Amino acid sequence: MTITTTTRMSEHNHTKQTDVEFIASIADFCAHEGARFTDSRREVAAIIARSEKPIGAYDILDQLGQIMDNPKPPTVYRAIDFLLENHFIHKIESLNAFIACGSDHRHSGSQFMICNTCGKVIETHLCSLPSALKTSAVKHGFTPQTWSVEVHGLCAECV
Ligand SMILES: [Zn+2]
Ligand SMILES: [Zn+2]
Repeated sequence: MTITTTTRMSEHNHTKQTDVEFIASIADFCAHEGARFTDSRREVAAIIARSEKPIGAYDILDQLGQIMDNPKPPTVYRAIDFLLENHFIHKIESLNAFIACGSDHRHSGSQFMICNTCGKVIETHLCSLPSALKTSAVKHGFTPQTWSVEVHGLCAECV
């Protein structure tokens, strides 16, 4: 079962970052971790952050091609992997698309509400596994590492 949801507004008053803050927080992270903040990582992060809707890898590649000479798909995938692994972006599995994390929260799960009509995506920071899932995991001796919740429905404007 896929439970899937991404909210830019949150239940915990996480403030929404600006794109500039978003890029700055990745730069800080790289400096701190000794990771390289390559042009492709920076540009892919900026493209995802600027996108109003979740964006797929090929659309990212298209936009990157307007900035860089002839970028190759592996360049985009490597940048996406880096951003995903470090929780700066989330993958919305049901859309096969990516969205910037709505806060500097570094959580391991991705939880989104997706409007079926206008495509708006709201990230909801559940922060910890819902208790029913936690109970079930314990029952099966299963250790959750990452998890995603994607709830499809209608946003307030589209109801
Ligand atoms: Zn997030
Ligand atoms: Zn809507």
